[in-house]
Amino acid sequence: MSEHKPSLQPDLIQQLQQKKAMLWLNPHLGRELPDHAITSAAIQTAQARLKRSQALLCHLFPELVQHQGLIESALLPLNQAEQKLFTQPELADQAIYLKADHALPIAGSIKARGGFHEVIAIAEKIALEQQLIVADQDLIALASPQAKTLFAEYTISVGSTGNLGLSIGIMAAALGFKAVVHMSVEAKEWKKQRLRDRGVQVIEHRGDYAAAVAGGRAEAEANPKCHFVDDEQSELLFLGYAACAEYLAIQLKQQQRIIDREHPLIVYVPCGVGGAPGGICYGLKAIFGDAVHCFFAEPVAAPCMLVQLAANSDQPLSVYDIGLDNKTEADGLAVGLASVLVSPLMRAQLSGVFTVEDPQLYNALYQLKQFENIEVEPSAAAALQGPVWINHPVAQDYVLAHHIDLQKATHVIWSTGGCLVPQVEMQKFQKMGQEIYFSQHKELC
Ligand SMILES: *Cc1c(COP(=O)(O)O)cnc(C)c1O
Repeated sequence: MSEHKPSLQPDLIQQLQQKKAMLWLNPHLGRELPDHAITSAAIQTAQARLKRSQALLCHLFPELVQHQGLIESALLPLNQAEQKLFTQPELADQAIYLKADHALPIAGSIKARGGFHEVIAIAEKIALEQQLIVADQDLIALASPQAKTLFAEYTISVGSTGNLGLSIGIMAAALGFKAVVHMSVEAKEWKKQRLRDRGVQVIEHRGDYAAAVAGGRAEAEANPKCHFVDDEQSELLFLGYAACAEYLAIQLKQQQRIIDREHPLIVYVPCGVGGAPGGICYGLKAIFGDAVHCFFAEPVAAPCMLVQLAANSDQPLSVYDIGLDNKTEADGLAVGLASVLVSPLMRAQLSGVFTVEDPQLYNALYQLKQFENIEVEPSAAAALQGPVWINHPVAQDYVLAHHIDLQKATHVIWSTGGCLVPQVEMQKFQKMGQEIYFSQHKELC
């Protein structure tokens, strides 16, 4: 390994510094995965663990009974109405879906997938060590009074810009753990309040997300009965996200979408540190192989996965290193440095990254509400431009090289959070979006 900081091509640095929306295609796609990469068996273990927790989740959260304790979301067809969300003629006949994780129960964001899986896995491990349960037993036993008394001796902590803290804090507290969430001072007040209401301790840190994570990690190292959920390198989180692929495959079948190399699946996911979109991509690749193409969406000020993959190095390179400031309204995506666990995997599997300017996020969330009656938070609107990018001339080389016929493809846009956002906040988002939408459509009036 080199001691030097990796670097990017000067023209790419220049392009990124302009902070204009762009598409970057990954030249390393199709490389071998690194040695010791996460296996399909590990993904199946996570899927099985989540199945064993369905009764437990119904017990902890009665509102989940109607979903049989499944933490899952709908796959919604878009662009069906007369007034189309996507007005580009080439998109009119293409199959475009929204994977509605903005409505995931309990945590209200995609973080429910990774976060709940990790907390349940920790609880299971402690219960196994203390011989409260045996391996592969149904996890309803984790709700017993003995289990709760046991978990009260342990702390689960996490550093978070917001949504991960909600997910980990809510689940850890529900199982009886002491829960501590380290947040940056800028994190949304309603998220902190929601956690405190559930008995979670919220510790505020100056500085950015990385500082909050470092704070949490340091505290956990000092205490053997404290488990720190590490967003920058957690395999359990990653596997919780990867476990989504099996159910998406079922949903695509239900919608009668054939997925094979001739009828590819093209997936667009907002990316922060990379765990959620990386896990999704990895899980989908394990099922669909070359028939799935994954693109991430990142803010122009925080394209950390783009930067890390373009650097083509195992040494970290952050958005700060190339003169960007990581300042974006998309709080779920405001991450300066990509996950060291995920980026080597995505170097082999990711098709590309497109960047999004903040006004586009508001514009997109406004249009989603107007045309489809769906409410999402700014981060969750980041991937909406995905089908437009793959139809754009800059993607043509990719489309040709992979023999993609877009008329036969299925687009899935991942919408990652929003259903817990308080109405006053949502109205502010919508108003911003409306202003931007109308300022862009002025010339038409
Ligand atoms: C966290 C988050 C993401 C991105 O997930 P990462 O694992 O950080 O890449 C996307 N959207 C929302 C709403 C999030 O909270």
